[in-house]
Amino acid sequence: MVKHERNATVEPESHAEPESETALDTARRQLERVAGLVDVNPGIVERLKHPTKVQRVTVPLKRNNGFVEVYTGYRSQHDDVRGPYKGGLRYHPNVTEDECVGLSMWMTWKCAVMDLPFGGGKGGIVVDPKDLSIGEKERLTRRFAEELRDFVGPEKDIPVPDMGTDAQTMAWFMDAYSMQEGETTPGIVTGKPPVIGGSYGRAAAPGRSVAIIAREAIDYYEMDIEATTVAVQGFGSVGANAARVLDDYGATVVAVSDVNGGIYDPDGLDTHAVPTHEEEPEAVMKYDAPEKISNEDLLELDVDVLVPAAIGDVITVENAENIRAGLVVEGANGPTTFAAAEILESKGVAVVPDILANAGGVTVSYFEWLQNINRRSWSLERVNDELETAMLRAWDDMSDAKSELNVTWRDAAYVVALSRIAEAKESRGLWP
Ligand code: NAD
Repeated sequence: MVKHERNATVEPESHAEPESETALDTARRQLERVAGLVDVNPGIVERLKHPTKVQRVTVPLKRNNGFVEVYTGYRSQHDDVRGPYKGGLRYHPNVTEDECVGLSMWMTWKCAVMDLPFGGGKGGIVVDPKDLSIGEKERLTRRFAEELRDFVGPEKDIPVPDMGTDAQTMAWFMDAYSMQEGETTPGIVTGKPPVIGGSYGRAAAPGRSVAIIAREAIDYYEMDIEATTVAVQGFGSVGANAARVLDDYGATVVAVSDVNGGIYDPDGLDTHAVPTHEEEPEAVMKYDAPEKISNEDLLELDVDVLVPAAIGDVITVENAENIRAGLVVEGANGPTTFAAAEILESKGVAVVPDILANAGGVTVSYFEWLQNINRRSWSLERVNDELETAMLRAWDDMSDAKSELNVTWRDAAYVVALSRIAEAKESRGLWP
């Protein structure tokens, strides 16, 4: 490998939040920050600031009223030096090309930090899925699968559910692809229903990995999990599973919330009794708890561990100074803005990053893909055991980088990811 000056100090920046920073801007700033910590060829860093390819497609849909509407869809393929592109397909009115590119970059780091043989992809359609009937959503998905057919494949690019899409969407996508290819191809997507090759434990995996990593971080800081208080924002797939598994580990979950607000009990909530988003959407506030609180107050509670697991950009320059938890474990993707992360760092708040904490999702997606290509089905117990092993290995790799370089958890995770990608690129060389 080519040797370069190592610069272990990170340039201080002002804590001002940029007016409108896209996911791509944030992803590039994070890459530049960490490039100063790794012995990496600057040409590789420059390459990684750009996606390999972005497909832009138009997707016609005959609506139930007989009129045809045409939607725009994207698939960003960021980097595949370590294996096929992997990442979500989201249906949301705010989907943009830049957002897909930024999110696909995060998927590249997430797969690398977990040492999975995948690169980063992300895509979606600019559409509000709430405006579509089930039939319209199915037709839109089938046509989108056809428009993307040349660019995806079980050895090329493997989509997975994201915002506005689910296991059923993946089933339609797989069916459309398989019909056109003339053979049933379960490995074209992950996050499918188990009856057609989906993996047990896939849906719960991101929340489970958040809990495993929170448990390890609690141990790292020599706290007793039985005496640890936790607040969780968002009680959906990630938040509810994280809260329940942490509860099972012995932590006291004092607050949880959904989009309507939160509930608080200083003695600890029975997280298995609070309805999750899947069990009864947005029903957290119906649970009989001693106190109702706002989502803003939940983030500023005096707890040991805060798990933001709802949406991005909830810890910002506006509230970072008021965060009282000593440890933040990111369940959502991008819950802490770049500027807020620097404030937390200066306050001594430890932040364990999303790319590792919620990576249980892509890890079990990898297990699903392995099951598909081997035509095997693993038990839930096996999936959870292998997930535990994979998360502990990734935690150890990140911890080693942290102690070696004396950097934040986020920088340490990025150092692990970027080093692996750079090494693979050096080894394969550049196609001139
Ligand atoms: P979900 O739809 O299952 O649940 C989201 C929860 O957050 C719900 O309880 C909802 O009421 C709440 N919520 C929505 N808007 C909110 C707001 N403004 N304030 C407070 N609460 C709000 O979603 P999910 O799958 O749990 O995803 C949550 C986050 O985790 C997202 O950032 C997602 O990108 C990320 N993530 C999800 C997965 C996955 O496979 N599910 C994997 C990795 C990361």
